[in-house]
Amino acid sequence: MTATQRNTHGKRNTMLVKHADVLVTMDDARRELRDAGLYIEDGQIVAVGTTAELPQTADEVLDLGGHLVMPGLINTHHHMYQTLTRALPAAQNAELFGWLTSLYKVWAHLTPEMIEVSTLTAMAELLLSGCTTSSDHLYLYPNGCRLDHSIEAAQRIGMRFHASRGSMSVGQRDGGLPPDAVVEREADILKDTQRVIEAYHDEGRYAMLRVVVAPCSPFSVSRDLMRESAVLARHYRVSLHTHLAENINDVAYSREKFGMTPAQYAGDLGWVGRDVWHAHCVQLDDAGIDLFARTGTGVAHCPCSNMRLASGIAPVKRMRLAGVPVGLGVDGSASNDGSHMVAEVRQALLLQRVGFGPDAMTARDALEIATRGGAAVLGREDVGALAPGMAADFVSFDLRQPAFAGALSDPVAALVFCAPSQVAHSVINGRQVVKDGVLSTVELGPLIERHNRLARQLTEAAA
Ligand SMILES: [Zn+2]
Repeated sequence: MTATQRNTHGKRNTMLVKHADVLVTMDDARRELRDAGLYIEDGQIVAVGTTAELPQTADEVLDLGGHLVMPGLINTHHHMYQTLTRALPAAQNAELFGWLTSLYKVWAHLTPEMIEVSTLTAMAELLLSGCTTSSDHLYLYPNGCRLDHSIEAAQRIGMRFHASRGSMSVGQRDGGLPPDAVVEREADILKDTQRVIEAYHDEGRYAMLRVVVAPCSPFSVSRDLMRESAVLARHYRVSLHTHLAENINDVAYSREKFGMTPAQYAGDLGWVGRDVWHAHCVQLDDAGIDLFARTGTGVAHCPCSNMRLASGIAPVKRMRLAGVPVGLGVDGSASNDGSHMVAEVRQALLLQRVGFGPDAMTARDALEIATRGGAAVLGREDVGALAPGMAADFVSFDLRQPAFAGALSDPVAALVFCAPSQVAHSVINGRQVVKDGVLSTVELGPLIERHNRLARQLTEAAA
C-alpha cells in the first residue's frame, strides 16, 4: 500500500465487489465461484469468496450481478506508437523485413507529442478490452522522443506499466535492416537506459511502473549491445526483452550472421533466464524450447501479428508442455492492427487449433496465458490472479450482451469463443479506471481526434 491510497483520516480505503455471476480467480486451484466477489483494502485484495462470506459494506460497493469478474489481462508485447500507422497501404501485404523497411522511414518522423498521444490511445483500447497491465517496447527515439513520454501517458491513464527502453544501433551502413537515421550510438543508448531505470523503476510489490532493458532485435543491434544491456539490466535487477525467431528470414539472418540459431544466439549472449522474455519465437526449435524451459526464459506469444505477417504458428502447446513461461501480446499496432486483448486471447486459441488440432488449447488455457502466464513472463507475483495479497486488478464483462446470448452454460468459455467483448468495469490497484464501459481518466473523443491529426501529420511528413 502507499500513503496516497489512504484517505485523509488515515483510515483504509475499502471496496466490496459482490454478486458476480462468475468470479474466475485464476488462483492456484483455478477456482471459479458463483455469486461471488472480492473485498479490497488500499488497492490490495484481502478476501475472495461467495457474496455471503464477504464483509457486507465498504467505502465503495460494486454490485456485479449479471457480470463475469476475472483478473485483469496482461499484455506482454506492444509498440504503442504504431497505432499512428495502422493499416498503412504501403505495409499491408508484406512479411516482416519488407514491412519494417516500408515503415522505418515513416517512424523516423515521430515526435514526443506523437509518442504521448499514441500511448494513450493504445492504452485506452487495451483498458477497454480487459487489459490492466501492459508492457510497451519503444525502440525509436527520433526528434527528441524519450521513454518519459510514454511513461507520463501511462501515469495519466492509470495503467500498470512495464516500459521497455528499446534501441537500434546497427543501421544499413553496418549491414543492419533499419535506415541509419533511426539508429542511436550504443554509448548513448546505455546511458539513457540507465537514466530511465534510475528515474522510474520501482521493484517493489504492487509497483505501477517498471523499466525494462530491450534492444530491438538481433538484426538491429550489435552483439556488444546485447551483452552490455544484459549486464546493465542485471546490475539493476530489471527484466530484459527483445524479438526472437519471428520468422524463417529472421532465423536465416541469425545463421548467416552469427552462425547459430536465434535460441543459441540468445544463450550465447546470456539472454536466457527468469528475467528475460522474447517476443514471438514462432520459429523456436526443439533445442530452443528445451533451453527456454530449463532456464525459465519467457515468451510473448502474438498470434494476430504472426498471422498478419504470415510468420507462422508458434508452438505454444509444446512450449507450455515443456515448461516455458508463455504470456500473450497484441504486438505493435502496425502488425495487428488492434490492441484488443480479448480478441487476442480468442485468436491464440483459434490459431493453436489450426496448427495442432482441436485440443491444442482450451478457452481456460488461453485465459490462463493472458493472466497468470503474462504475470510470470513479466516477473510479477502480485498480479494475474485474484487471491488475498494480490493487487486489486480486475475486470468485469456484462454477460447480458447479445454476443453471449445462448452461451451461458459456460460463461467463462463464452468470453473466449464468442465475439470479442469490451469490459464494463476495470479496476487497477484498487482504482476504477473504466466504469460502466467508459474510461474515467481520459476523455476519448478529443484524444482520438488529436491522434488522427498526428497520424496524418506523420504520414505526410514521410511522403
Ligand atoms: Zn514486436
